[in-house]
Amino acid sequence: MLLIACPYCGNRPETEFRCGGQAHIARPLEPAALSDAQWAEYLFVRDNPRGVHAERWNHVHGCGRWFNARRDTVSDRFLETYKMGETPKTTGSTSTGSTSTGSTSTQAEARA
Ligand SMILES: [Zn+2]
Repeated sequence: MLLIACPYCGNRPETEFRCGGQAHIARPLEPAALSDAQWAEYLFVRDNPRGVHAERWNHVHGCGRWFNARRDTVSDRFLETYKMGETPKTTGSTSTGSTSTGSTSTQAEARA
């Protein structure tokens, strides 16, 4: 079973969480100044990288809080989780195929 480290609760089963999409999307400072196309891009267009991706997650069947995570979309490994407003400890590029880049492991796997 995949465990995800909630920054508030610790490791919990993945079934307790829901992904909320890409993280760190800044709202435009002057939304009224945007064209319809620019507004639509802000609302609907998201990155879909192969590799490390910053995402928002909700511990919906736990504490109910939102947090951010950096996850490798290739291996489905969580490199780290961190509270909203915090900056990630690890930065780095994608890891396409090779093993990771000195990441802090906040994920554990257990076999039941
Ligand atoms: Zn939690």
